[in-house]
Amino acid sequence: MPRTYGNFIDGEWTESRSGETFDVTSPASAGETVSSHPASSREDVEAAVDAAVAAQGEWESTPGPSRGAILTKAGSLLADRKDEATELLVREEGKTRSEAAGEVQRAIDIFHYYGAKARDLGGVTKSASGPDKDLYTKREPLGTVALITPWNYPIAIPVWKLAPALAAGNTVVLKPASEAPSVVSLVFECLEAAGLPAGVANVVTGSGSDVGGPLVSSDRVDGVSFTGSTEVGTMVAETAAEDLKRVQCEMGGKNPTVVMPSADIEEAAKTIGVGAFGTTGQSCTATSRAIVHEAVYDEFVAAITEYANSLVVGDGLDDPDMGPHVSESELSSTLEYIDIGRSEGTLECGGSRLSNDDYDDGYFVEPTVFSGVENDARIAQEEIFGPVLAVVEAESFDDALSLANDVDYGLSASIITQDLTEGKRFVNDVEAGVAKINEKTTGLELHVPFGGYKDSSTNTYREQGDAGLDFFSSVKTIYENY
Ligand code: NAD
Repeated sequence: MPRTYGNFIDGEWTESRSGETFDVTSPASAGETVSSHPASSREDVEAAVDAAVAAQGEWESTPGPSRGAILTKAGSLLADRKDEATELLVREEGKTRSEAAGEVQRAIDIFHYYGAKARDLGGVTKSASGPDKDLYTKREPLGTVALITPWNYPIAIPVWKLAPALAAGNTVVLKPASEAPSVVSLVFECLEAAGLPAGVANVVTGSGSDVGGPLVSSDRVDGVSFTGSTEVGTMVAETAAEDLKRVQCEMGGKNPTVVMPSADIEEAAKTIGVGAFGTTGQSCTATSRAIVHEAVYDEFVAAITEYANSLVVGDGLDDPDMGPHVSESELSSTLEYIDIGRSEGTLECGGSRLSNDDYDDGYFVEPTVFSGVENDARIAQEEIFGPVLAVVEAESFDDALSLANDVDYGLSASIITQDLTEGKRFVNDVEAGVAKINEKTTGLELHVPFGGYKDSSTNTYREQGDAGLDFFSSVKTIYENY
């Protein structure tokens, strides 16, 4: 049965002021409604901001260890509900069971990580220039922050913003993506049960224009942490800049993996295949360009085609290799890019929607590989956000590096090589926030900074790890002469 969810404002689950709702349907079975949520408006946003601003002082003065204990408990309560959260995520977003379980586990781990960090928020003591003087720094919360999140990691990304924001003593209004908001409600149920005081964290569901826009322009919001497309992120950054609001936008990617002649080509194809087709290519760090040295180009194209053809596509509940697209519009966008690709390269495999009886009107598409693609082609330059890989040929290491950098984005990049010098030169010279050797472009440990260069990010702050606290706090320098 579809479940009806509410906004969470000032510790209460409520309908939108207008009573309007929207439904979420299953990507694997288009006619099936999974959940219903408030279609909120500016008035709901105002009420949530009121609650967050009112709760700020008391939460800020709650000792860090006490704030951390609530986050740790919320993580443990989420762990108790891991199967439920996994199932919900599969049914709304379309991920495979394994992918969804991994994402839920990531959210649990983030709560525990920042639960511990709240005991150790940092600050340094420096030598003062004389006796009876102390010189040190401490971290203070930014205030009330807006968190705006995408659908592709609908539990991990909200939690990797929420947990450091709360650990650092901020109050929060979160607007989740409308494609998969239920797992966020489940997270808020855990925070509530863990004892989070009313008003400290609020969630308001609805459209980007009705909820996201008013949050970004609210003069009572001190900072906006956004993850989503470069198009929307650019607007968010511009609006926030109008009143000098602190803003962090983590955005799209067009991530390359370079393959050099010393690579084991079978392994390289597997690494790139997981990066390209995992989560149906709907990761900001998805591998969407394979830049392959000419000496191993044909061998690589054969291996990646065999890999893509071996993948089982189906309903995430059956835990296949690849699930559906999240929505009809994302499916249509990928199919449009596939059409563009037909004139920009050679279609090696895939290229079609999967729509027979087994696929039940879901948004399924075949894993798709194009070879013979020039790096300036649209399918090699624009973020497709679907399971489509463009294979580009390079003449040399220098050529491959320059092709890897010849793109507007700069999120994640990797090289497959047994040559240490090539590997080191690549990670030093590639223009990306995450650079890897012999690894896929997707995935990163939660205790290291994550973020992009170029059009992938405002590139001012990083998320996750110690750096994840920086956006949500200000460093105060204190000089005491006594
Ligand atoms: P999106 O930009 O369409 O939406 C992101 C969020 O912004 C949603 O909650 C949406 O409702 C909201 N929004 C839309 N219009 C708004 C407005 N005018 N004002 C304020 N908020 C608004 O992105 P999406 O389709 O949900 O997610 C996919 C994109 O996210 C891809 O480009 C992907 O690369 C990117 N992404 C980046 C990272 C990263 O860390 N760099 C991680 C995941 C996803």
